[in-house]
Amino acid sequence: MLYADVILPLSLQGVYTYSVPADMETSLSAGSRVIVQFGKKKFYTAIISKVYQPDEFKDNIKEITSLLDPHPIVTPLQLKFWEWISSYYICTLGDVFKAALPSALKLESETYVIANPDFQSDEPLKPAQQKAYLSLSSTKAQKISEVAKISGIANVVPVIKSLVDIGAAILSEDINNTYSAKTISAIRLAKQFSEVELREIHESLSRAKKQQALLETYLRLHKVNKVILKKSLLEEAKVSEGVLKELIDKGIFEIFGHEVNRIDYGQGDMESAYNLNTYQQEAYQSIQKSFLEKDITLLFGVTSSGKTEIYIQLIKDILSSGGQALYLLPEIALTTQITERLRRVFGDRLAVYHSKFNDNERAEIWNKLLKGECNVVLGARSAIFLPFNNLKLIIVDEEHEGSYKQQDPAPRYHARNAATVLASMFNAKTLLGTATPSIETYYNALAGKYGLVRLTKRYDDIKLPHIEIINTKDLRRRKIMKSILSPPLSEHIQNALGKGEQVILFQNRRGFASMLECKTCSWTPRCTHCDVSLTYHKGQRLMVCHYCGATYAVPTTCPECETPTLDVLGYGTERIEEEVKERFPEAIIARMDMDTTRSRRSYERIISDFAAGKANILIGTQMVSKGLDFDNVSVVGILNADNMLNYPDFRAHERAFQLMTQVSGRAGRKNKQGLVVLQTSHPGHPIITDVKENNYESFYMMQAEERNMFRYPPFYRLTSIVIKGKDEHTLDAAARLFAQSLRQSFGERVYGPIKPPVSRVQSLYIRKILLKLENRLPIQKVRDALLYHQHVALDTPDYRSLYVYYDVDPV
Ligand code: ADP
Ligand code: ZN
Ligand code: ZN
Repeated sequence: MLYADVILPLSLQGVYTYSVPADMETSLSAGSRVIVQFGKKKFYTAIISKVYQPDEFKDNIKEITSLLDPHPIVTPLQLKFWEWISSYYICTLGDVFKAALPSALKLESETYVIANPDFQSDEPLKPAQQKAYLSLSSTKAQKISEVAKISGIANVVPVIKSLVDIGAAILSEDINNTYSAKTISAIRLAKQFSEVELREIHESLSRAKKQQALLETYLRLHKVNKVILKKSLLEEAKVSEGVLKELIDKGIFEIFGHEVNRIDYGQGDMESAYNLNTYQQEAYQSIQKSFLEKDITLLFGVTSSGKTEIYIQLIKDILSSGGQALYLLPEIALTTQITERLRRVFGDRLAVYHSKFNDNERAEIWNKLLKGECNVVLGARSAIFLPFNNLKLIIVDEEHEGSYKQQDPAPRYHARNAATVLASMFNAKTLLGTATPSIETYYNALAGKYGLVRLTKRYDDIKLPHIEIINTKDLRRRKIMKSILSPPLSEHIQNALGKGEQVILFQNRRGFASMLECKTCSWTPRCTHCDVSLTYHKGQRLMVCHYCGATYAVPTTCPECETPTLDVLGYGTERIEEEVKERFPEAIIARMDMDTTRSRRSYERIISDFAAGKANILIGTQMVSKGLDFDNVSVVGILNADNMLNYPDFRAHERAFQLMTQVSGRAGRKNKQGLVVLQTSHPGHPIITDVKENNYESFYMMQAEERNMFRYPPFYRLTSIVIKGKDEHTLDAAARLFAQSLRQSFGERVYGPIKPPVSRVQSLYIRKILLKLENRLPIQKVRDALLYHQHVALDTPDYRSLYVYYDVDPV
């Protein structure tokens, strides 16, 4: 008798034990996908984490209901990786499981299904399949548990799974996506006939000329192609279905379903990769050299230096030696531009993986990797969860991007950091690429922990753009700046439009309506203890420090210029669009922000339209900074640098520098030096100077000093504890108690509890406790201590309803 521990797709601590039915004993192992019953009536897909001979048998242990696949679908290494994620990011294995597996692989009682009305079967359905299929509606999605009731099949999940596999049923998540058949009919010989047998068969058909011709055509085609599709065989042989049917009836041919990729890209052409120029070649060689000594290397290459081309070369090398490569990009930067570029070189060996993809496609990529059928993955952060078997290289492009951190739900992992751990499990190398390294990464590079390779020349020797600083404070004071566009910026736009060139106007999205600013002198209130801007709480008319919790009254006049003009910041892209339209009525304007890019397609369309010259001016938020490659943009306007500098967060200055540098990188790519017009009321701010002079080192030195002084990463590790509850008083008391308890172990390292700027979400009140921990503190011990104090402080009936989670290394 064997027992198996399983991971359930639920936020429950630990694994659950089931007994293994005798008939599964040989076919089941760690990583196998099974169905188990949990609770009274619910069935879930679970993953086996361990199979073992129990020391003692327990009574009421449930049996595993069924085994879904002949082979494990999660590798041992993946299970190890899941454990690392759950341990480091302080969440449950179930949370990791939920995030890791595409939902098509996670059928459960609550999953919705619908019948595929276009389904045509090559083979008759088995009785149970037939029953379940007839119980499905083709117009209304039903829960699998409902289908169980209607069909009378108690354990209907595996049956539904088999229907999904043959295309007879569709999972709810895919209903909105166009579903296309997974297999197409192909023809093969009914068995492996010998040469002699084949000749005899051919002979025997001499009086059925059409059948004979069909056989001949088949044999001829088969010399070149392994898979012969029914349609092409019939076309090639110019015979009807009936002829084929005769041969099938005679037991010569058979029909089978050939699995196809939805789109066939062919092999790609590895030779179509560009030749590297001298600088790129040097960088490429330095990376290889660096990898001899270091597992992680930073490629610090200015915008438009051709980092992508270097990645392509490195991936080519990996493929030639039989390895796999993972190329990570922030979700939003995964555009058609980059996909097509890689597709041309790697063809079908490339799989693209991100969250906006149809779930069946994602499950398909999972299966392809399991079978070792593709060896390059281009993906967003969740691609680190794919079942690689021979991963040799991970590229994390735009490594500085905060969106590599998952915010909600758990696991709140940082894909860049997790990728380096995944790589080490494979003994693989990690390349971090960016034009603006994160403070953490550059710190590690300077410390010698990471290798460092620089690429300082743009491709084709295009110059970095000229950056012109506009002092909006001065212009406002002199009353010559009435709109968001300063007169010099207007003039440059006018010029560019006159020459048929394009313009990008960038407005930072964050920070609106939560900060106060003096309309006259642009003064913003800051916390006296923390060096961050204060957040304005409209309801209470208070200013609060996001970090230490200190509160301040709103001053009636500005302490700087003594005018009563403090106001809430706010200038959205929509309003900018209106003003630009008014000023340049003849220009075609495109706007790219959260509102205009709800769907992936609209995002892509705005980009491709702009690239094709269908608009003259592109107005956008962060989205316009993400690695886009436009040929004809001569002017980039940064409309208001201030709200980036003032955002209440210790990373505000880092983000501001990165954003402005990246946005500037969109100017003057192919033909000539571009111009960036940077509007700010703090022209002397060190960050502005560093952006203007493209002085990363100076920016870094100052940030590093501040971070060290105020105990932030990379000098300290942050962990934020979030507590939520329906009742504010209970929550407050619990949060205080928790913090108090934590102080017994962590003393001064504990900050808070504080009430965050957004302190109530979905009718739950929120409190946060922040810990600043020395790097040398052992991670495992810290985690255990945190959980211990949570238990001591909150495991009482009063606090049972509170919801607690950890955000390790928050961004
Ligand atoms: P980065 O990622 O460093 O910003 P890209 O890889 O996007 O830069 O390269 C910028 C532009 O230069 C792209 O249009 C790219 O196709 C072109 N380019 C870069 N290197 C080469 C090369 N070796 N041969 C031809 N074109 C190149
Ligand atoms: Zn003022
Ligand atoms: Zn403070």
